[in-house]
Amino acid sequence: MTDSSGCEISRRRSEYLRFIMERGGSVKPMDLAEEFKVDPSTITKAMRELTASGLVNHTPYHRISLTEEGKTCAEFLLRRHRILGLVLCKHGLSRDEACRQAGQMEGSLPRVFVDRMCASLGHPTEGICGEIPPDESCCRNQARTTRRCQD
Ligand SMILES: [Zn+2]
Ligand SMILES: [Zn+2]
Repeated sequence: MTDSSGCEISRRRSEYLRFIMERGGSVKPMDLAEEFKVDPSTITKAMRELTASGLVNHTPYHRISLTEEGKTCAEFLLRRHRILGLVLCKHGLSRDEACRQAGQMEGSLPRVFVDRMCASLGHPTEGICGEIPPDESCCRNQARTTRRCQD
């Protein structure tokens, strides 16, 4: 956790990182191409950029895995998505709507606001679409709430 804004990365790239994280930190390029319904060459190009940024390890035709930095980044992206999703869900959106809408909005949400929302929700352990990884600086030594959004 170095900067105050989380990892600066385009929306599509952040979806890729989140997906790899959710699959345990490593996937085959085809998994990404199928999940996001894009051409494998699109994935290759994106992975080349993410490799250059130090977020993934990838040699063409082999598995893609997150680096330590990539994991930290992906954890933040997951937490941001799910915290924002919970906020939206608590304010009238269904879980599906909240998940989708969070995906549209989360890119512009700085870490400092994610942390405040996280605190206001009681550092929740679970969001609308899965677990919320604890954040070293935000959630450590805090009592965390396990209640999730009612649908
Ligand atoms: Zn979601
Ligand atoms: Zn927190």
